[in-house]
Amino acid sequence: MIIIMEPGTSEDNIQRVVKTLEKHEFRVVLNRGDVMTVIAAIGDKRMFDPRSLGSLEGVREVKIIQEPYKLASREGKAEDTVVKFDNGVKVGGLERPVLIAGPCSVEPEYQGLLDVAYAAKEMGAQFLRGGAFKPRTSPYDFQGLEERALIYLARAKEKTGLLVVTELMDTNDLPMVETYADVIQIGARNMQNFALLKAVGKSKRPVLLKRGGAASIREFLLAAEYIMCNGNDNVILCERGIKSFDSSFTRNVLDLSAIPVIRKLSHLPIIVDPSHATGRRYLIEPMSKAALIAGAHGIMMEVHHDPDNASSDGAQSLSIPQFEDVAKRINKLIGRIDYDNRIQKQELGIE
Ligand code: PEP
Ligand code: MN
Repeated sequence: MIIIMEPGTSEDNIQRVVKTLEKHEFRVVLNRGDVMTVIAAIGDKRMFDPRSLGSLEGVREVKIIQEPYKLASREGKAEDTVVKFDNGVKVGGLERPVLIAGPCSVEPEYQGLLDVAYAAKEMGAQFLRGGAFKPRTSPYDFQGLEERALIYLARAKEKTGLLVVTELMDTNDLPMVETYADVIQIGARNMQNFALLKAVGKSKRPVLLKRGGAASIREFLLAAEYIMCNGNDNVILCERGIKSFDSSFTRNVLDLSAIPVIRKLSHLPIIVDPSHATGRRYLIEPMSKAALIAGAHGIMMEVHHDPDNASSDGAQSLSIPQFEDVAKRINKLIGRIDYDNRIQKQELGIE
């Protein structure tokens, strides 16, 4: 933390800041420049936050120097985190980018889900997604089939071997969701639901954490930090678009630059959800390709057996035949990326 003083501020003002910091056991380093004084404060800010000094007389600005997401940060752990599953699937680092496919919501027609699951398996996906508890903007929209949906997902997993990704919205449902899910999703709307983050931090299941629609990258990584500092290191980040002023053609704006930025700042895997990012099915293929080229560790897309009659998000869901076409082309690209990653692994001596 550094405290930048106003140019020419009085010695009294400088000493007031220094004394306050020392009272809270901060180590203080004074840098007296020709024009202004800069005070570096090193210490534990859990009990006292130096940002409180921001309004003291003579203080121009209080700045954070070290990012507070210590566990999620590359500074703390240089090598990439690879999230591993019992069936050998790996997410992150130089592993082959993964594919997650499935409907927005699990619906009463089980056969529809099964058809999607078989197609996903056939096209090389590793995960089946599907919402059992749906975070809908309107309370009058479809809210999800809850445990029935989880049972359907588990049955589809039994038939196909696909790992199940499903969203948790309430800490009370964690024991139930954990028994059916291989990955617990925390949705964009709950990215800063700290009680939920702490609860999944204590779970043994990997967590897929989606970026909030109005969350900065810093806030996103701090949300991951909540999960990690509660004991769960297996966090997969998911960029799913952020809000902007123009939603005439796309639901959100896919922040592609977040992928390399997050890969630079953090060792955690980062995947992309082009369905929620764009809201339009024709944009899934181009945005998936762009995301993979930008370094995404995987793609999560919505696929429905009958998108035009879906309970939720039909417009951003591919039909099964469309998915098969898109997945073929995406798989070609994934194959090339995987080949490059293998060469890189050989060069690094890790394969
Ligand atoms: C979802 O993936 O089902 C979902 C609701 O997405 P988001 O939280 O990104 O809106
Ligand atoms: Mn959806």
